[in-house]
Amino acid sequence: MKIMVSACLTGGNCKYNGGNNRTEKVLKLMADNEVIPVCPEQMGGLPTPRVPSEICDGLVKTRDGRIVDREFREGATKCLEIAKREQPDLIVLQSRSPSCGVNQRYDGTFSGTLIESSGITAQLLREKGFPVADVEDLLVTERLILRKWEESDAGNLYVYAKDPEVGPIAGWPPHQSVEESLDVIRNVFSGAEAYAICLKTDNKAIGAVELKLNGHTDLTDRDDECELGYWLGKPFWGQGIVPEAVREILRHAFEDIGMQKVWCGYYDGNIKSKRVQEKCGFRYQWTTEGLDVPLMHERRTGHVNLLTKEEWK
Ligand code: SF4
Repeated sequence: MKIMVSACLTGGNCKYNGGNNRTEKVLKLMADNEVIPVCPEQMGGLPTPRVPSEICDGLVKTRDGRIVDREFREGATKCLEIAKREQPDLIVLQSRSPSCGVNQRYDGTFSGTLIESSGITAQLLREKGFPVADVEDLLVTERLILRKWEESDAGNLYVYAKDPEVGPIAGWPPHQSVEESLDVIRNVFSGAEAYAICLKTDNKAIGAVELKLNGHTDLTDRDDECELGYWLGKPFWGQGIVPEAVREILRHAFEDIGMQKVWCGYYDGNIKSKRVQEKCGFRYQWTTEGLDVPLMHERRTGHVNLLTKEEWK
């Protein structure tokens, strides 16, 4: 797979202060893939080190008031030209930068205030339809990338979610159309901790893993507890992919987002799901008979397991 990535994430000393944002997960991605590092600010002709900049009323300015909008836009255009030529399968960009930030950037007041908006390069690449991800939204394992769902995953999701062996055992009916899969991406897989499971080799969604936070689960009403859910496309069963994804999202739950307990359930007869939970260290808590399974219009017996942070350590 071809990945375009902010050069500072690979260890390139191109940050405004001459340093870098080298990170283990990008190094893991680099190990198996063709990587195209880009630094839009350097490509736009700005020196390193340089005075930091922010976007203020639509114009990029340095902290000492110089307008560097032309350089930022030139760098973004050059990145777009590279993306068009190389057709990367994934573009991973550094968070919060006025060039590379995907979800957030500083507000232009140089006061450390963040707003929900993108940097110049991230916005341009996204507008042109490239698969752009904020590095903080990615989890990476030996074989997998866990990333946010994109609307462009709908076709792939439908391929696996229409299989009657996949959804019903977990409590949801097979998808009937790509449109239904798109609706699920927009309205179900939109949670803060919902990830597509993708192979590192092609970034195509083959399953899902999610931490359902307080307000989105019946198993807890605490902010430091959540419920784990997962499923995988049938062609990938029996390869240890779900345990690999679950172990990484458990690390994320306990180390990155402050969870103390992760709950997980399965319906009677879902032996595969039971085994995943046992392999990952969950302990049995209780069984409920006559549980309502609303999407399937039926009642089932459900079992609940738990893993605490202490046990996970
Ligand atoms: S412009 Fe992007 S690649 Fe360059 S230093 Fe800033 S965040 Fe890193």
